[in-house]
Formats: sequence, C-alpha cells, structure tokens
Amino acid sequence: PRKPIVGGNWKCNPKTLEEAQKLIGEWKNQVPLDKRKIDVFACPMMPHLLKVKLPMEKLGISACAQNCSKTGEGAFTGEVSAAQLKDARVQWTLLGHSERRTKYGETDEEVAEKVSQALAAGLKVVLAIGELLDEREASKTDEVNERMLKPVVAKVKEEDWSRIVIAYEPVWAIGTGKVATPEQAEETHAAIRAYMAKAVSEDVAEKVRIQYGGSVTVDNCAELIKKPNIDGFLVGGASLKASFMEIVQKST
Ligand code: 13P
Repeated sequence: PRKPIVGGNWKCNPKTLEEAQKLIGEWKNQVPLDKRKIDVFACPMMPHLLKVKLPMEKLGISACAQNCSKTGEGAFTGEVSAAQLKDARVQWTLLGHSERRTKYGETDEEVAEKVSQALAAGLKVVLAIGELLDEREASKTDEVNERMLKPVVAKVKEEDWSRIVIAYEPVWAIGTGKVATPEQAEETHAAIRAYMAKAVSEDVAEKVRIQYGGSVTVDNCAELIKKPNIDGFLVGGASLKASFMEIVQKST
C-alpha cells in the first residue's frame, strides 16, 4: 500500500508574508498529523517559503519549491538552482506545473532536465503532467501524459523514482471548479501506472505515488481518494485556506 501524499501549491499567493504566516497559524490548530499515515507538503513562493519553512516543518509539513533551474549555478539571471534549494534545506521541488508549461513555455525536455538537476542535488520531486481540454476531447489524454513522462523516464535511474511523485493535473480542471470525476481520474491514473510498468518497471509502477490535482476541495476529496490508483492530491486554491488540513485529514 502506498502512503498518501497531499500538497498545497500556493502559486503566486498570498500577497503578503503576514497572510502566509497567518495561514500556517490556522493550520497549526488542526494538527497533529500522523506522519506514519500521510506525507504533507506545501509550496509557497520563494521568499515566503524560506520564512515559513520552519513553522511548517514543526507541523510536519515539508517545504516544497514551485520550480527550479534546468542548469546549475552561473550567469542565469532569475533562476534558482536545485543545489541552492538543497543548500537552503528545502527538500522538495514541484516541476512541470501546467502553468510553467503553458504560460512560460517549458518544454517536456526542459522539465526532464529540471528533474535531473533536482535529483542530482538530492531533492525530491513532484512532477506535474496533464492534458489540455482539446487534448482530452480528442482522446489524447494518455498520449499526452506519456509524451510528458517519456523524456523523464529516459533521464532517471530506476532507483531514483523513489524520490519522485507524479501529479496528474488535467489542465481543464485547474482553477475552473470542474473537477475530474473519480472515474475519469482513476482511469487516467491507472493508465499512467501501466505506462510506468512498461517504460520503467513493475516495481516502480507499483510504488510510485500519483496525486490528482485540479479543483480538489474538502467536498470532493473523499470520493477521489477511495480510488485505488489515486494516492493523494495537489491542491491549488483550496490550499490557501485553513480547511486545507481537512483535505489532509480526509486523505489519511
Ligand atoms: P486548483 O486546486 O486551484 O484547481 O489548482 C490545482 C493546481 O494547479 C495545483 O498545482
């Protein structure tokens, strides 16, 4: 049995550090977490991350960056390297979020390079994949997910998959209030796992955790988590609320 894992992706929110600290304070009232039963992480934006990291970790919540550079250190203005994250005691990074792919033009190959950098630096990775609405409507969901996974599979050693969590986030469900049905999500998660079995190994496919993301709320998470191939959630909007911890509790 895979241990569930739930993450909060705060994206470019909230506006002030005070609000970020207040949110962590609200979460504090709803712990303790049973870390034997669930892994939890949150991804504040970088300056907030470094400030709220210790208070979060005291609650048993790991700090996760939202992105890292595809290169190491050097003349790369605006970038943060994986090794610099590691040096700042950040253990996790999210990579390949659809907003990075669609709004900032990150290619499948670049995302794979970032995964390599992160793993080489000793980080753990949440690798986000997922199809656009027109791709789903054209029945290309599995094809798109495989296309995104393929360059990562080519770069990652089998044993390093223990440090990767896959987040399946259909783009049409992100921030739209249109959550995938448990059946839709389960079908796609099962297809991702089948691809991992074929492309990497049965063992990795069995062990890799696959989160669902896209309009997850306190109200819809309990039905989704019942599905055998859904191992947790990557939560956007609903992770900016005190009730994020209810999603965590319902996923345990
Ligand atoms: P929402 O939960 O706001 O739909 O966002 C999902 C997401 O993009 C998490 O990475």
